[in-house]
Order: sequence, then structure tokens, then C-alpha cells
Amino acid sequence: MSYKIHMAGYEAPRTIFQIDALHAWQHDRYFAPVIVEVSPTGSCNQNCSFCYSDKVDTKGQRIDDEVLVGLFRELPRIGVKAVSLQGTGEPLMHPATPDAIVAGAEGGLGFSLTTTGVVLTPKIQKKILRHLTFVKFSVLDSNKTRYAMMHGCSEKQWEQLVRNIADAAELREREGLDVALLGTVYVERNNFNQIARIVGFLRELGMDYVVVQEATYTEFTPGRQANNTSTGYSEAQIAEMKQSVTELNSEDFTVKVRFPIDDATYHVGVYKDCWKDRFCQGIKFFPVVAADGRVYSCYRAWGKPEFALGSLYEQSFEEIWRSTRRREIEAVIMTTPPDGDECAVCGISKLNDILARYGDDNRFRNFLI
Ligand code: SF4
Repeated sequence: MSYKIHMAGYEAPRTIFQIDALHAWQHDRYFAPVIVEVSPTGSCNQNCSFCYSDKVDTKGQRIDDEVLVGLFRELPRIGVKAVSLQGTGEPLMHPATPDAIVAGAEGGLGFSLTTTGVVLTPKIQKKILRHLTFVKFSVLDSNKTRYAMMHGCSEKQWEQLVRNIADAAELREREGLDVALLGTVYVERNNFNQIARIVGFLRELGMDYVVVQEATYTEFTPGRQANNTSTGYSEAQIAEMKQSVTELNSEDFTVKVRFPIDDATYHVGVYKDCWKDRFCQGIKFFPVVAADGRVYSCYRAWGKPEFALGSLYEQSFEEIWRSTRRREIEAVIMTTPPDGDECAVCGISKLNDILARYGDDNRFRNFLI
């Protein structure tokens, strides 16, 4: 395992290299999105207290096998470069997901997979790992009882997950694969004093990169927690925790601590009081396909048919993307502030912020570097 091999480029600027899309966007011309988030199914094998998609109304739905495979064949043909497999359920709970990944990869589509990891069995790994740029394992812990409590699942799922991560690291080594193994750890009241131990455990399992962060509790999360966890700790306690965790950084392994979330760009525009009109330009670069087979602009619209850009059961992705309805819905999304927490876990707020900077008046801009 080597961070330098598997994670090279991960932290470099990415958006500025999408020159064709950025040029078309600036001149108000048609362009295909650079990346599409796809949620193959609304079903999940867990019941997490912090789940941000618990209220999204696609539970029990899943995209038809042929539609999913057809979508992944179509996307690279029309200029889409990557798919982020995550969404409102566990992507691997859809039996056609592995075949769809293989079909998309044959056309040159890149993939990332966000998963609990419990169903990423060696058989599935053998089929898809070589086609993935990275796998992100959601919300890990080194203790099976805590894990089972946070995820609303059995302790056996933790045991399977740990075996799967170790197997993935081993398969990667054996077959010389490029895939990077990432993970997240949520700081909760029941693990605050154990974060360094958890991260050390993940490093030993063969992971490359771990983000320690705060779960966002909103009016939609099923756990009854009213405040984010960081509000219960002093600055000194948090600094001490960060210090013990960041000592685990090495040549082969990186851990970042975002607790509390200190990057202001994660919040710009996502609440009523910081909303900015027409700020959400990222929806033109990074839409979502939900388990109901509809295309939506972003997290806020997910599973709400009145905001759907179109359905893949009636139109191709390209037809939907070229439609006037897409433009109309985008205009509504971009000019209507949220009522409450609808945007609280916006996945593209940072992209929105980067794109907003293209409009900034910066007198230093022509003095490159
Ligand atoms: S969820 Fe959508 S509408 Fe809300 S801030 Fe993000 S891009 Fe904008």
C-alpha cells in the first residue's frame, strides 16, 4: 500500500481542468455534466442514526437492470466522465450494479463507490475493484458494538466489513490495482476518546486516507440528536483529540480531521440565511440519478418528482439534459431559498463556491501562478 501511488492527484485542483465544460458554461452553451451521482437503489442493509437520506422518498425503489446498464453505456458516449455511486441506498444492494460498472468502464467511464462495505464481498471485488478510482467506506469504527449501534445493524456486519476491507487491500496488492481505499469516521459522543485508536485500526487494515468528521444532524436525520457533536466539547478537548489523530499521518497514510467542520464553503448558500441567488451553478456539472430512475439537479430535489428533470424510463439521459424542462427546473432551484434543512448536506456546495469565483473581480488574475 502506498498513499503516493493510490492517492496521487486526489488533493490537487480538479475543477479547473474541466476546460471544455467551463468554457461552455461561461458562454451559456450546452455541455454534458462532468460527473453524475447515481443511486441504483433506495434500499439499504443498515439503519443509521445519522442517515441524511432517510426522508428521501425512493425507499424500496430501484432502477431497472437494463436502464441502469444502458445509462452507464450512454454516459461516456455523451461526454460524461465519471459516476459517483452512492445516493439514498447501498449501491451494491442492487444486483446489477457490478455489471453496470463493467459496462460503463468499457466505454471509458470512471467510477467511485461509496458503500457500507458490508456487501463488497471478494466475489464482487474481483469483478469491479479494477474499474474503480476509489472506494469510500462509510462511517467506520474499530469497535463492533459501537458500529452496530450507530448503523442500526448486527455486529456480524462489522465483522464482514472488516474482512472485506482487508480482502480489498490484499487483492489490490496482489493484482497491482490502482484503486484507492478511503474511509470516514464520525466523531460521536460514544467514541470521542477513541478516535486515534479507530484511525490506527483502519491504517493497519490497509486504508490510504481517512477523514474524521462531524455527522450533520438535521430535521431529517432519524437519530434524535439535536446538536452536532462538537458542541459538547471544549476547544482544548478537540485540539487534544486532533493532535493524537494527526500523529498517525505517514508516508503511506493520511488522516484529515474536520471536527467541527471548519471550512466555511461547506455552508455558503445551504441555509435560508446564507442563501445566494443563482449561486448553485454546480448543478449544471454534477446532477443526480435517483433510485426512481429520474434525473434531479441536486440533493434538495432528490425523490421529489415535481423537481425531476425527466425520467430514464421515458427519455435518454441526453434528451433529458438537452430539454427545456431541465433549464426551467434549474432556474427554480437556483432562485428559491430552502425553507429549512433541505440543503444541509449539499454535496456540491464546495463546487458551487469554486464556480462562483469565476465571476469574482480579481485584479491579480492575469499574473499567473
Ligand atoms: S442542495 Fe441544491 S439547491 Fe441546495 S445548496 Fe446544494 S446545489 Fe443549491
